[in-house]
Amino acid sequence: MLVNVKGILKKAQEGGYAVGLFNTTDTDMLEGVIAAAEELNSPIIIGTAEVLLPYGELKLLGPALVDAAKRAKVPVAVNFDHGLTFERCVEALQVGFSALMYDGSAKGYKQNVRETREMVEIAHMMGVSVEGEIGHVGQASEDSYEKHDGPVAEREDMYTTPEEAKEFLRLTGVDALAVAIGTAHGEYKSKPILNLKRLQEIRAAVDVPLVLHGGSGLSDDDFRNCIKCGIAKVNIFTDICLAGAKATAEGLSQGMGYLELRNKKVNDIKEATLAKLRLFGSENKA
Ligand SMILES: [Zn+2]
Repeated sequence: MLVNVKGILKKAQEGGYAVGLFNTTDTDMLEGVIAAAEELNSPIIIGTAEVLLPYGELKLLGPALVDAAKRAKVPVAVNFDHGLTFERCVEALQVGFSALMYDGSAKGYKQNVRETREMVEIAHMMGVSVEGEIGHVGQASEDSYEKHDGPVAEREDMYTTPEEAKEFLRLTGVDALAVAIGTAHGEYKSKPILNLKRLQEIRAAVDVPLVLHGGSGLSDDDFRNCIKCGIAKVNIFTDICLAGAKATAEGLSQGMGYLELRNKKVNDIKEATLAKLRLFGSENKA
């Protein structure tokens, strides 16, 4: 069933587990992750992101995501991830997405607050919850992250502080908050250093569900620790892309045809998703 993200995240926060968001840019991914959630009787979040639209048009893909969520046996929220422009966010709302993340974190603080607040007002009118980001998670490949790949003290300039988090929530009214505590998007070139103490401090300072972006490539223990320290939603994309790419390479080397390859891809993405859902502790929490 299609649900708002707010309810499933509150339940996760209280229950000490996390709900996974798996961005699904085609129907193979969509089928794989929904099958995994149904098999484990787990809530799940699917969706796409503004930077991923060149790989799957919102008007084409969006209705398939919403329809699959409605037909699923488990609670499924459909999230528009890292919304960067009002135009695309509103388009996602029109398509029927039940959650959105507005990302103004690359802009100045004041602009981030102003735009996020506006997006919250629009989305709340339609019963859709909004996640904001304070601090900057960044890309594993981007200069700023590489530059900060040295002394931890320097790198921590980009980390969210409890004071910032509290103030941002008060000013914007977001329903969930993405925090920067040392992760980055994409594939890591060196081992990320997570600041769990900072995460605990943020958790103690605010009451909304906290979100971990840039989760692909973290160790199982990293995930367990982050969830123990208060993360209620984990975003995964790179890991299921890798599972799909590996399935394609293996299938081709085995001489599989297009349709067989497609089935192998769906199956292997499902397997990768099952492992993550078990790790996040959301099994049987539907
Ligand atoms: Zn992200």
